[in-house]
Amino acid sequence: MKMVLASKNAHKLVEMKDILSQLGVDVVLESEVGVDVDVEETGTTFEENAFLKAHAVMEASGLPAIADDSGLCVDALNGAPGVYSARYGGPELDDVGRYRLLLENLRGQLDRRGKFVSCICCCFPNGDRVEARGECPGTIAYAPKGEGGFGYDPIFFLPGLKKTFAELTAEEKNAVSHRGNALNKFKTELEKYLHGTNQ
Ligand code: IMP
Repeated sequence: MKMVLASKNAHKLVEMKDILSQLGVDVVLESEVGVDVDVEETGTTFEENAFLKAHAVMEASGLPAIADDSGLCVDALNGAPGVYSARYGGPELDDVGRYRLLLENLRGQLDRRGKFVSCICCCFPNGDRVEARGECPGTIAYAPKGEGGFGYDPIFFLPGLKKTFAELTAEEKNAVSHRGNALNKFKTELEKYLHGTNQ
């Protein structure tokens, strides 16, 4: 089955392809099926935004579409940047600018607890939807470390592994990450759904 990824993020494509290929699902980019949808993420929860993105791309392509809405929630910042993780600090900031701003906003703060959240939603042309949520708890480092991954990876520290996300291989990150957790749950839910509908 072909499933269109409602995102232009190549990192997400790799992480999703890896896990969903085990179910015979071929995750493709919007560009591969000739659609280019810009969805305004007007939701206030990860669940709402994942649905908005998947639904819009399903409508445009006529194919099942899958979206992940994710972000970093920091306890000492009352859950910020949360659903605004990709837009934290405004459009002029890049990934490095955003994590530097986060470190700046946590300067002097001893409570470094936070978590990554990922909500996945797949919308089918018949109106059905399959969803899952995954989380990964950790702490916010005092300085960036590691070269891998994307976004806030260099400052997200896993006390159990004593490494940041950016110091993990893609495989190691998938094994513990919010998206890996959400995708594994999603895989189970999708398996049940496909079995039930004989697709
Ligand atoms: P989205 O594309 O609207 O879901 O935005 C997600 C944003 O959250 C990304 O742009 C990153 O800033 C951040 N984010 C989500 N997942 C990760 C991750 O695995 N590592 C680092 N940053 C992430």
